[in-house]
Amino acid sequence: MAHAEPDFAADRARMVERQLRRRGVSDERVLRAMTEVPRERFVPTKLRGRAYDDGALPIGREQTISQPWVVAAICQALRLEGRETVLEIGTGSGYSTAVIALLAAEVISLERIAELGDAARERLEQLGVDNAEVIVADGSKGHPARAPYDAIAVHAATPEAPHSLISELAPNGRLVVPIATATADLLTAFSRVDGELTQETIGPCRFVPLIGAEGFADPSQ
Ligand code: SAM
Repeated sequence: MAHAEPDFAADRARMVERQLRRRGVSDERVLRAMTEVPRERFVPTKLRGRAYDDGALPIGREQTISQPWVVAAICQALRLEGRETVLEIGTGSGYSTAVIALLAAEVISLERIAELGDAARERLEQLGVDNAEVIVADGSKGHPARAPYDAIAVHAATPEAPHSLISELAPNGRLVVPIATATADLLTAFSRVDGELTQETIGPCRFVPLIGAEGFADPSQ
């Protein structure tokens, strides 16, 4: 007997209601974007049935697609209104790139693992996301070619906020980055206001490490 296709749209609506809205995500633009992006298209085929699980899922090369709540928390903390140029570090599957692409004018997304970056670029193209560019590079060093950025999102934990990223923030720009501490990764927002950098802790999360010149050392080297 043929198995019925899962109702992904219903799963997605349930995820937005139970995992996001009930847990304090209140930015309606973020909630709408996450109601629209088909997360099942960003996970390996054999894991599609778990696309809306309340957790991260493996995408190969020891990396993960982030938990939906984490993507929403980062997007909400960026306070996007639609006109921004956003630099994203850690493309992974491209899921968060697709969400940010609905919230901002354009996204430049950097991924250090070529296999993941290339697959994400193809996926985004297939889905018709035309305001996102995926570049294979060490994002801990930023991307000076397109700086300054109105917002920067980092999807991997760093020992401290990379100086290159801070220097690429536009006036009134926001950098959201998980900072690794001895006990947890703390999702942290930095804002540049009147030339001063302010810092606000959003909450504890778990991330894979940011590996690069201004992140952690590459364990394979
Ligand atoms: N946001 C992604 C998604 O929705 O699928 C998940 C990102 S995953 C948790 C973190 C990603 O950061 C991994 O793909 C990893 O290879 C990447 N990464 C780690 N260090 C990096 C660096 N220095 N520059 C760019 N990407 C990096």
